[in-house]
Amino acid sequence: MSTEKIMKSLERLVESIANSNEVDPQKAKHVFKLVLEYSLRGGNGLTDIELEELTGYKQAEIRRILRIFYDAKIITYNKSKHPELDTVRYYWKIDLDSMNMTLLKMKKAVLSKLKQRLEYEYNNEFYKCPEDGSRYTFSEAFNQEFKCPKCGAILQREDNSEIIKELNNVVKRLEEEIKRDERKVYSS
Ligand SMILES: [Zn+2]
Repeated sequence: MSTEKIMKSLERLVESIANSNEVDPQKAKHVFKLVLEYSLRGGNGLTDIELEELTGYKQAEIRRILRIFYDAKIITYNKSKHPELDTVRYYWKIDLDSMNMTLLKMKKAVLSKLKQRLEYEYNNEFYKCPEDGSRYTFSEAFNQEFKCPKCGAILQREDNSEIIKELNNVVKRLEEEIKRDERKVYSS
């Protein structure tokens, strides 16, 4: 899975956390991105005040977003006393270990979907419309007397060996990636 795809999945995760908590998903994604970038650079964490300055959102909004991230276990904090002001500050960062665990779970879900698809391709014969490219299993084609339900053209048997080959490659690559990730996640 490419970094871009992973970022997209993370964004969707943040979006769904925001939506289920009635928080503006755009603002939640923005805060998440800032904290993630900071965490990836190995920083100590960002305070709600810094986030307020970086985003321009109200402090109450920022705190609410941090709270729901914390409840969803995708964010963590370090507490420390401000040296001069004698007040306690929270430094928020993405918990990269639990994040890696989340990513691993997501990759496994993708893998199981791919395997289902592969099995479907193995176990079925396919027929295709030469005109519009629509695709049918044998029983679907049989029920339609091998005529396309959209345009009436005669359906043609499709050789899906290339699709199977490609799916097999993707499955293998993802399996290797998951193995690598598992070594990383469980060795730390
Ligand atoms: Zn057709």
